[in-house]
Amino acid sequence: MVTKAKSKEAAPKLRVGVLGCAGRMGRALVRTIGAAEDATVVGGTEPEGSPWIGQDVGAPIGLPDIGSAIDADPRALFERSDVVLDFTSPAVTALHAGLAGATGVAYVLGTTGTSAAEEQSVWAASKQSVIVRAANMSLGVNLLLGLARKAAAALDLDFDADVLEYHHKHKIDAPSGTAIALGHAVAAGRRQDHESVATWVRHGQTGARKRGDIGYAVLRGGDVVGEHTVFFAADGERIELSHRATNRDIFARGALAAARWTRGKKPGLYGMADVLGLAD
Ligand code: NAD
Repeated sequence: MVTKAKSKEAAPKLRVGVLGCAGRMGRALVRTIGAAEDATVVGGTEPEGSPWIGQDVGAPIGLPDIGSAIDADPRALFERSDVVLDFTSPAVTALHAGLAGATGVAYVLGTTGTSAAEEQSVWAASKQSVIVRAANMSLGVNLLLGLARKAAAALDLDFDADVLEYHHKHKIDAPSGTAIALGHAVAAGRRQDHESVATWVRHGQTGARKRGDIGYAVLRGGDVVGEHTVFFAADGERIELSHRATNRDIFARGALAAARWTRGKKPGLYGMADVLGLAD
């Protein structure tokens, strides 16, 4: 007789590939997957010429015995993985998404700052592959997105909405993908067209704020992992919905949850709301 415990033990581990495995997120992913019982890191990439090429995938986190060398060939990584995680650069999103489509391997994309053309390549690849795409993989932020949308729907345009975000000094895109997603959530709650009400920058003689606009403000500095606040300010009162990340592991845990969730799913483009069961 096969007991439940035994059949669980026998389930093959999820084979996970980590693109950009020596980056800040790449390291958090290798650490998080390494600690999971049901998943294993089968390889990682870094760009051609990186000093990490040829070293063990565990080397960037001080564990050089995972047994797979870092290389520069993403195709080989897709071919030996059940799911590939991408927290690298928008410059390679189309290449990586194309490989997900060509190989049919599941793909979890966390890179932010992607262009419309890059998003299009992700969409095209999702016809052949299960893709989970989210600007922020944390449970808390995904809850915040739902709360922002609900608050915006409940309040009228007497409440001016702004999104403030604060990130470490190395971040190369602004506003953060999460801030923009929060702005979209507010616009959706108010049934507005986001592009026509978004105020990206305020500088100089801006004139008074227009009713219904959604403003963005950005701070950069130090090692701040990621902070987001949505303000709803009316005459005499203000609501602030905030999330503060103090550790990158929250994103890595969300990415691993997304990787597990892809098993057995039909090709398509999904978000964290699907993974977390928060979709409407
Ligand atoms: P990082 O610069 O520390 O790491 C990026 C890594 O990707 C580097 O090691 C770099 O060498 C590598 N890389 C670049 N081009 C590559 C290529 N062609 N092949 C293989 N590797 C390549 O940056 P980070 O802080 O880890 O962030 C990476 C991305 O993830 C950013 O877009 C960031 O905004 C995003 N991010 C998303 C979430 C989320 O929850 N979705 C959370 C944190 C960061």
